[in-house]
Amino acid sequence: MSSILPPPPDADSAADPAATFVPPPVAAVSAPFDQLPLPAAVIANLARLGYHTMTPIQAAALPVALAGDDLIAQAKTGSGKTAAFALPLLNRLDARSFAVQALVLCPTRELAEQVAQEVRRLARAEENIKVLSLCGGSPIRPQADSLAHGAHIVVGTPGRLMDHLSRGSLKLDALRALVLDEADRMLDMGFFDDIAYVAKACPKDRQTLLFSATYPEGVVRLARQFMRQPREIALAEQHEADKIRQRFYEVTREQRLAAVGLLLRHYRPESTLAFCNTKQQCRDLVDVLHAEGIHALALHGDLDQRERDQVLVRFANRSCSVLVGTDVAARGLDIAGLEAVINVDVTPDPEVHVHRVGRTGRAERDGWALSLVGPTEKNRVGNIARSQGFEPQWESIAELQAENAAPLLPPMATLQILGGRKDKIRPGDVLGALTGEAGFAAEQIGKINVTEQSTYVAVRRNIVRQALKRLADGKLKGKKVRVRLLDE
Ligand code: ADP
Ligand code: MG
Repeated sequence: MSSILPPPPDADSAADPAATFVPPPVAAVSAPFDQLPLPAAVIANLARLGYHTMTPIQAAALPVALAGDDLIAQAKTGSGKTAAFALPLLNRLDARSFAVQALVLCPTRELAEQVAQEVRRLARAEENIKVLSLCGGSPIRPQADSLAHGAHIVVGTPGRLMDHLSRGSLKLDALRALVLDEADRMLDMGFFDDIAYVAKACPKDRQTLLFSATYPEGVVRLARQFMRQPREIALAEQHEADKIRQRFYEVTREQRLAAVGLLLRHYRPESTLAFCNTKQQCRDLVDVLHAEGIHALALHGDLDQRERDQVLVRFANRSCSVLVGTDVAARGLDIAGLEAVINVDVTPDPEVHVHRVGRTGRAERDGWALSLVGPTEKNRVGNIARSQGFEPQWESIAELQAENAAPLLPPMATLQILGGRKDKIRPGDVLGALTGEAGFAAEQIGKINVTEQSTYVAVRRNIVRQALKRLADGKLKGKKVRVRLLDE
């Protein structure tokens, strides 16, 4: 399990925690990709994607997986696991054969979509590799039609894959590799039997790769049942833990929600995930933050799938500063690498705490893990610190008070175009419309997400009104479109 290292010794204890000296992380293994037995076109594509050196899990897993061995790899979110299994899958693929040759199981629809997207990017070195995602929450018939047209790689959630297998729309005779991504989370979600069903439908002589953040008993059982002498890799997580700077702030009940605003204005993170223990507290916090002009959105169980997608799009495209959620709502989301995580309450469970703070800090960046501690929660901090072996660093809310009063605004804002995949809109069309006639620079445009019904485009906040007007006045795919600004 991950361990949070003690904060660095605080020599002359500066009052400003942001200025505290933090030693650079221990130099990570920085092996270049070109030492792997991969075609030059693949290496070139990786370089185009900005992948120059392997992450530690990739350096450990790729040689084993490329050699065809079964593998159990334990590493946390944000460590680059997708490429660690996608490159071996792609390497063994016969692009001329339109049969499903690799299957990736993920715990949630969002994770499956993200994995499918990443696999598509990594597959660009070769022509015409079809990656299909099959998840619950979408009608099954169109998925079956897509399968009938042929796919090389399928990424999906266990339940839906099982449905396709039992209907006969998914055939696995030509399968060469099975991947269980985030195996521990799939088991947490009760997917053991579904996974077993899918694994049994795969040919025996396949390769099986299992990725997991932790290594509980269920994972051992899965491995024993469905893998052939798997090689095991577990990564010490010091590199990542080094980058998480934890601070604890004592607050009274009355101070708690307002303190979140103070922390945000002090640390000024671009993206923050704030954890609450209850849904009601999520709603209250969003209200308090809105009143202070901070762009926050709540993620809770009462949202329908479309609303939830919209919230996640806006957070990921940097037009919302704070995502407020409960552990349950945030579960299964691949949100990591954030500048900050704020624990609005301290959770009683040290494991949950470690999981929460693990969402911050990734790759070359540092992250803040800030916890607000009520009078009755101090012993929880004690438990967490003991189980993780660090000395908690306490700071005072009062010292934040005088800090930067400037409003904290996200860099981008989101425009929603009422039209999406069903209208054959593609990201390039929107980018073209904004950078063409409308005259904006590509740097002013952020992420573009096309869903079935809608398209979301992030633009720099300072051009959002003009961009809205130009899109609404112009045409997309030869048609007028309705556009609105999502901003509250
Ligand atoms: P995990 O599955 O372990 O949570 P991901 O595979 O989603 O991690 O990777 C996290 C992020 O790091 C992604 O944005 C991915 O594009 C990026 N990434 C992965 N490997 C590398 C690499 N070797 N160099 C640079 N970026 C990488
Ligand atoms: Mg992953």
